[in-house]
Amino acid sequence: MSKVYSIAVLKGDGIGPEVTEAAVKVLEAVQKSSKNLTLHFLYGEAGYHCIAEHGTNLPEETIALLKKTDACLKGPMTTPEETGAPISAAVKIRTMFNLYANVRPCRSFPNVEALKPNIDLIVVRENTQGLYSGAEFELAPGTGIALRIITREASLRIAEYAFKLARNRKKHLTYAHKANILRVTDGIFNNAVKGVALKYPDVALDDVHVDAATMQLIKKPETFDVIVTTNLFGDILSDEAAQVTGSLGLAAGANIGETYGMFEPVHGSAPKYTRQNRVNPIATIMATSMMLDYLGEKAAAAKIEKAVIIVLSEGKVRTADLGGSSTTSEMSEAIAAKVKAL
Ligand code: NAD
Repeated sequence: MSKVYSIAVLKGDGIGPEVTEAAVKVLEAVQKSSKNLTLHFLYGEAGYHCIAEHGTNLPEETIALLKKTDACLKGPMTTPEETGAPISAAVKIRTMFNLYANVRPCRSFPNVEALKPNIDLIVVRENTQGLYSGAEFELAPGTGIALRIITREASLRIAEYAFKLARNRKKHLTYAHKANILRVTDGIFNNAVKGVALKYPDVALDDVHVDAATMQLIKKPETFDVIVTTNLFGDILSDEAAQVTGSLGLAAGANIGETYGMFEPVHGSAPKYTRQNRVNPIATIMATSMMLDYLGEKAAAAKIEKAVIIVLSEGKVRTADLGGSSTTSEMSEAIAAKVKAL
């Protein structure tokens, strides 16, 4: 019997529509080549471009749409920066649906120039607290305060997620923090990680200061397996790790909660490349693979990953970030064709 899933698709801003359409093309190819998988795509509006018409970057109709779907494929969105403007739509969705684990795999791909070969690591970032809580204000003119909220409950939850993931991989977890300076907040985080570690004696645990982690990611990225950290540190470390493996255009991210998942490229809306059919859609395509994996469709997820690796190995289709001149649509067509052939 065919499994049927409703997928919310938010195309986003800038390069969002082109990379999202490219990824949907690959999902359609997976659907065609699998006898028992049906995907219903439900399109919603969200992002910077909505603000003029709706007064918000996440309209109520879109929230209602997300609630009736099994997962969301989200294109990158431009974050409003003006004072008083709505906060990031991605941050709103993560908070609203309690998508507490931001999972960002970074690996070396064939034919992609990376700092080192054999990189295969995952950054697990706490996604609902820290400096992304939006609790920021001006105490007096010229003196601003941002609250870094860290709770034991959220730290235990993300630590548990990271240990489980590490147990199913190379059994090596590193936690990155700055507890020598942020003694209270990272003290709570560190104690939670150490507490959960007692349940996972088979997982080797290392701790590293986040500044040292940024260096280690350049010097010895191949020594990391799973890294768990707080919100802002995870955002920075995962962008760095993505670049170490070759291009931000390859890195996908999952936002996972107890009952819902949102999947997106790690990169932003890169406005200067809008509608040039030039950027790499692989990050968003890999996000669809993570989405199918989350939905339990392991074979379909693996098919997408395999097709990406074959296209990269062949080296005939390469976008500008990979040193080639292929377009976004040529890349997605090549991957979709491989999916159908597998
Ligand atoms: P960005 O990731 O959009 O772009 C930085 C650079 O990375 C680009 O100039 C380009 O050289 C490269 N790049 C990004 N995506 C690429 C791709 N698919 N293929 C090839 N190269 C690619 O970062 P930014 O310029 O700092 O941010 C632009 C906007 O996106 C901002 O408003 C930012 O807040 C927002 N943003 C949104 C998300 C999200 O929606 N989750 C994430 C990050 C940034």
